[in-house]
Amino acid sequence: MQIGVLAVQGDIREHAYSLETLDHTPVFIREPEQLNDIQALVMPGGESTAMTVLMRRYCLWDALKESISNGLPVYGTCAGLVLLSRRVYNYPEQPTLRVLNVEVERNAYGSQADSFETSLKIKGLDDELFAFFIRAPIIRTWDNGVEILAEHGGTPVLVRQGNTFASSFHPELTHDLRIHKMFLESTVVRKTS
Ligand code: GLN
Repeated sequence: MQIGVLAVQGDIREHAYSLETLDHTPVFIREPEQLNDIQALVMPGGESTAMTVLMRRYCLWDALKESISNGLPVYGTCAGLVLLSRRVYNYPEQPTLRVLNVEVERNAYGSQADSFETSLKIKGLDDELFAFFIRAPIIRTWDNGVEILAEHGGTPVLVRQGNTFASSFHPELTHDLRIHKMFLESTVVRKTS
C-alpha cells in the first residue's frame, strides 16, 4: 500500500524505513494533492511548532485536517500526537489540528536529558514493547471515545480514536514494527478487505 509520511520536519526516514520493511511504499508528503494518493498517513516526531509553520507554508494544514476528518487513517508519534491533539495544556496558544480528543502537556517528562527508554505492555500484543520517549508529551485528559492501548506512569502513551492513532513514544526508532502493523491492520486493511 502507499502510506504517506508527513515530510516537513522530524524523523521522516525512520518511519519510511519501518513502512518499507512492512512491504509498503512510503510517500513523502509535502503537497496537499499527494494526500489523495495514500491509504494512510504517519506523522513523525520532531518539533511540533516547526512542523506547524512548515505545514502551513506548504498548504498542508487545512488539507490534512479535512482528509483526517473524511476518514484518512493517521498515526502521530510524539510531536505528531501534539499536532493531532485538541489542545496543548501548557501552551494553550499553540495551534493543533484538533482531530484527537486529548489534551497534551508538551515536554512533560523534562528536557532532552530526561529522555528515557522503557518496556510497555500494549493491549493486543503478547510481548512487551521497548519504547523510546524523547522530550515526549503526556496526555493529561481524554474523552470517553479515546481507547487507551498502553499506559506508562498512570497516563496513556498509546491511544486510538477511530482511524486516528497516536503515541508519545517512537516505535520507528527500534526494529519492532508491531505498532505500525497494528495501526495499518486495524484501519486500512480492515477497511479494504
Ligand atoms: N518536544 C517536541 C514537541 O513538543 C516533541 C518531541 C518529539 O517528537 N520527540 O513538539
